[in-house]
Amino acid sequence: MKIHGLQKMTLLDYPGLVACTVFLGGCDFRCQFCHNYELVDGSAEPVMEEEEFYSFLSKRVGVLDGVCVTGGEPCLRPELPEFIRRIKDMGFKVKLDTNGGHPDMVKELLDAGLIDYVAMDIKNSPDKYAMTIGCEFFNLNPINRTVSLLLENRIDYEFRTTVVEQYHAETDFHEIGKWISGAKNYFLQQYVPRDTVPDCTLEAPSRETMENYVNIAREYVPTAKIRGVE
Ligand code: SF4
Repeated sequence: MKIHGLQKMTLLDYPGLVACTVFLGGCDFRCQFCHNYELVDGSAEPVMEEEEFYSFLSKRVGVLDGVCVTGGEPCLRPELPEFIRRIKDMGFKVKLDTNGGHPDMVKELLDAGLIDYVAMDIKNSPDKYAMTIGCEFFNLNPINRTVSLLLENRIDYEFRTTVVEQYHAETDFHEIGKWISGAKNYFLQQYVPRDTVPDCTLEAPSRETMENYVNIAREYVPTAKIRGVE
């Protein structure tokens, strides 16, 4: 399997653990605020083969606690369970980042005990989902199934929404709150404008707006928090 990026150490990506982050290219969404769009549209060249990655990891046993598997959308790779199994066999905990569109893969990983933490995007309220992910139409059933799987509380997880000024409004956080009511963790992340994203006109909401939205979300998910506000 081709690896499209490797951050050799992070204190931020895996809550509470020292980890590395491995990036797998390809995604079925087209979010216009995506910070990793070169992984989505296929323009990024692979940086290494998986054997080289395992070799890197073998030298980090006892140094790193975990591995974050991100993308792109890792669940598009049929080889993902085997890839993660090799990581787990070296003793690392594994966090999966997913857009939530592939519940069968998430279930397979959960049932096999291959993942320890999942971070799933909730892009927006149901009515705005297709628009927010850059698609004309979108069937929400897979997203609903992944939400339900995580709400079973079999492992640690978080839902997270990247909040974009032009995409989100108060009503959306009522809708999202009802949707994921009772979730363990929910983070609202302030969008960070970058000139590498597909739509450079998108803006970050103000701190005040973020605080307003998180207060709405807390009506349904009391643990809701803001992450990364400037
Ligand atoms: S789901 Fe994630 S990786 Fe895919 S386009 Fe959206 S932000 Fe980018």
